[in-house]
Amino acid sequence: MKENKECKIAQDLLPNYIEKLTNEETNKFIEEHLKNCEDCKKNYDDMKESLNKNNKNKEKKKVNFLKKYKNKLRILEIILLIIIVAFVVNTGRKVYIITDLNNKAEKYINSTNYHKIVYSLDKGNYTKSEVYSLDNKKKIILTTLTEDGKKEVVTIYGTKIGNAPDTPYAMVEPPIGIYKQNVYKETETEKTVTLNLESEIAVEPQKAFYGIENIKQLIVCAITSSINKTTYDGNKCYYVSGMPSILLNSSMYVNKDTGLAISLMASEYENPDGERGRVAGAEYKYEFGTVTEDDFIEPDISEYKIEDANDYINQ
Ligand SMILES: [Zn+2]
Repeated sequence: MKENKECKIAQDLLPNYIEKLTNEETNKFIEEHLKNCEDCKKNYDDMKESLNKNNKNKEKKKVNFLKKYKNKLRILEIILLIIIVAFVVNTGRKVYIITDLNNKAEKYINSTNYHKIVYSLDKGNYTKSEVYSLDNKKKIILTTLTEDGKKEVVTIYGTKIGNAPDTPYAMVEPPIGIYKQNVYKETETEKTVTLNLESEIAVEPQKAFYGIENIKQLIVCAITSSINKTTYDGNKCYYVSGMPSILLNSSMYVNKDTGLAISLMASEYENPDGERGRVAGAEYKYEFGTVTEDDFIEPDISEYKIEDANDYINQ
């Protein structure tokens, strides 16, 4: 009877004893009882074993969860790595293309014999400007067709007499030249000529990416722009878009062989002082080595009314 009562107490205390929640006195009582009672000892062993199993399962679940978590993290790391590699490779590709095109253009922008034609449409005025350049001589033919159908042809014969001082943010390179010029103007009603005018002319071929001055700007341009292979007017070229607005020509077609822009989209830009400007859309055609002295023979001056150079400047 006594044994039975002790067993009951022992059974009640066993779970807490296994979890080590019982006090020293209770521990002594249970340990003494387990020594003498086989039933309770067996019960105790079973309970302990089942608890151990339970704990092991819990541990296993924890390990499995950690493994899954680690795998997911691994996949994320790989995806991130792929994105970074693709970004670096793509930026590198664009840096290479821009540098290559600018190197190719170098040969042409310093050419002393070229014929350049620019067609542009700006605010309803259609303009064709044609430049013949041979050493220090230039002939420029500007044909303007206004919205109301008026046509004007201005032909300039110029001889270079010096370089203009550098202007900040000049959107041209090489430096602007000062030319002594005879300017022939022809409208439907009159023909006039102004002789020996001195003014600046900036018509040299320009690199498509002429605003890029250092490696930082080059990388920024490569990151922000998209550059895709295509053809334009039968020429192999790149379509470039999304260039930073500080540069001109935010969208353009660039000839793959010459590095010169052959078509510009109309765009706006901002110079480092925050002033906004606008470039009209334009088409460019170039020929090199085809200009001769014959292109600079001036027309018979007797057909033209001679105007004073000072009046021309005041116009
Ligand atoms: Zn017992």
